Amino acid sequence: MTNNQLDQLRHQLDDVNIRLLDMINQRGQLVKQIGDLKKGQGMKAFDPVREREMLDHIIEHHKGPFEYATIEHLFKEIFKAAKELQEDDHRKTLLVSRKKKPNDTVVDIGGIEVGNGNQQFVMGPCSVESHQQVDAVASVIKQKGIQLLRGGAFKPRTSPYDFQGLGMEGLKILRDVGDRHGLKVVSEIVNPRDIEPAHEYLDVIQIGARNMQNFELLKEAGKSNRPILLKRGLAATINEFMNAAEYIISQGNGQIILCERGIRTYETSTRNTLDITAVPVLKKETHLPVMVDVTHSTGRRDLLLPAAKAALAIGADGIMAEVHPDPATALSDSQQQMDIDTFNHFMDELQAFYKMDAKV
Ligand code: PEP
Ligand code: MN
Repeated sequence: MTNNQLDQLRHQLDDVNIRLLDMINQRGQLVKQIGDLKKGQGMKAFDPVREREMLDHIIEHHKGPFEYATIEHLFKEIFKAAKELQEDDHRKTLLVSRKKKPNDTVVDIGGIEVGNGNQQFVMGPCSVESHQQVDAVASVIKQKGIQLLRGGAFKPRTSPYDFQGLGMEGLKILRDVGDRHGLKVVSEIVNPRDIEPAHEYLDVIQIGARNMQNFELLKEAGKSNRPILLKRGLAATINEFMNAAEYIISQGNGQIILCERGIRTYETSTRNTLDITAVPVLKKETHLPVMVDVTHSTGRRDLLLPAAKAALAIGADGIMAEVHPDPATALSDSQQQMDIDTFNHFMDELQAFYKMDAKV
């Protein structure tokens, strides 16, 4: 075969591809019209008998060279795609969905990017307890090149008798320490009314696991011009998590970082069960960056490092973990926060691991 012949055949093939494309889309339009008509008459979109009839009709006209089974398979896929067009497939149309926006969203925290391919770390104490305490943590995280400082001021605690956080005073401390060390600050807001006042202090507004479906809070966060770090609910499916993010983006704020922080399962050896594959699932389904909180997911200091390695290896855009100058005296989560030495070791190990990985 001459090159000329090959070119001609390839040309014909390109032509057929485009005709096939047109026909598939034409078919899609027809199916949509049928779907609308059926909806108007209160009929169900999917009709297996009709599908069988269509397949039989196609097979009757089939002359080869493909096997019957292949043709049946191909048409079933076409039917399936058209059915999805007919069905009110919410996930497909969600604004957070990758089907809506194929390229990655990069969240910009005053010049610090999350989701640009470089992993970010959000480190700091569980709760802001004092200026001195936050300052001690900030200086060590800064030394390790970390740019994002966390600290809870409004603490959602299981018991009403436990430390509830310093509130706005805590945000002020965080802001002040952040500014002193050139760190951007992240803290949880639990009340929709506090979102607006928090703008004065926070670079990132966190919505915690317990509030993932606090829809009024989500809507208010959606009106904010601050990036939102949204944590997965304790028992939320990925679909529910995505819909929570949808509440935020649908109000205009698309700067959202998703955070997997473990879910409730029957397993008791860890505080929660880290759903590590949620990371690639979320990255596939949505265009948003995904972080992993290794502290609240494992609840175990000895598991922070392996969990963080796993998170980075599986494609997380960042890691959150808690650090306290003296975890034994911490007012919350004293079991699981790292002390300074553990933190330094944690970062050294992770940086070595990550460099190794980067060479591949
Ligand atoms: C936190 O990050 O401070 C926190 C309370 O986490 P979560 O909402 O994931 O439990
Ligand atoms: Mn905590």
